[in-house]
Amino acid sequence: MILTFLGTGTSHGVPVIGCDCPVCKSDDQKDKRYRSSLFIESEKTSVVIDTGYEFRLSMLRSGKSSLDGVIYTHAHSDHIMGLDDLRVFTHETRLNAYSSKEALDEIEAKFPYAFSPDFYGGLPNLNRVEVKSHVPFSIGDIEFTPFRVIHGQREAFGYVFDGVGYVPDVSDMLLDENRDLLENLDILIIGALRRKPHPTHLSFDEAYSIASSLRAKRIIFTHINHDLSYRDISFLYQGRAESAYDTLSLEV
Ligand SMILES: [Zn+2]
Ligand SMILES: [Zn+2]
Ligand SMILES: [Zn+2]
Repeated sequence: MILTFLGTGTSHGVPVIGCDCPVCKSDDQKDKRYRSSLFIESEKTSVVIDTGYEFRLSMLRSGKSSLDGVIYTHAHSDHIMGLDDLRVFTHETRLNAYSSKEALDEIEAKFPYAFSPDFYGGLPNLNRVEVKSHVPFSIGDIEFTPFRVIHGQREAFGYVFDGVGYVPDVSDMLLDENRDLLENLDILIIGALRRKPHPTHLSFDEAYSIASSLRAKRIIFTHINHDLSYRDISFLYQGRAESAYDTLSLEV
């Protein structure tokens, strides 16, 4: 299975419009972050988690051209506003969109035409597939297990598949209910916004401490803001946690 980070930034993206900080002015390509999204490929199946503003740009940049399903973590704009560009995959067939009932309700309210029972070649044609925390579902030959987390005032989903956990937007991992699912993963990709605490996201220290307590073999931060550069983040935990960057591709 191959994982490709289509985007690794927080809701503003990096650089932030009008910001003169060293990270926004950095020449390092690893400091250019589209809104967070992950592309997952097995031999037979391609899936994307979240379709933010740069969905089209990130697919072109990564050379991806097939898609068998779309999964949403939650309905914040930075995770859904590229949805219209799914239509290139739905000219002849509908595509399943998987998330919680609440997230799908919100997405459908913003994009009602994408879920119309009528089929239009020029529009995205999506099926709602409501999934529940800790109830696995499959897309092609990949099995996903959603898990509920707290993200500020709302809930969001993370997903576990093939020894990998992906949870970009989280302020409370709800370890009482999720610990068994998340312990000893090969890779935990976890949202870590910045150094200081934040009401709706984990900080680097919080994310690192949770991922360590879960004994993740590899810890990768995503959904990062312009507080620290890619290089700075690499030095935070003596190499025991790393920053994702856009276009990073991993074979698992
Ligand atoms: Zn987000
Ligand atoms: Zn900045
Ligand atoms: Zn969010």
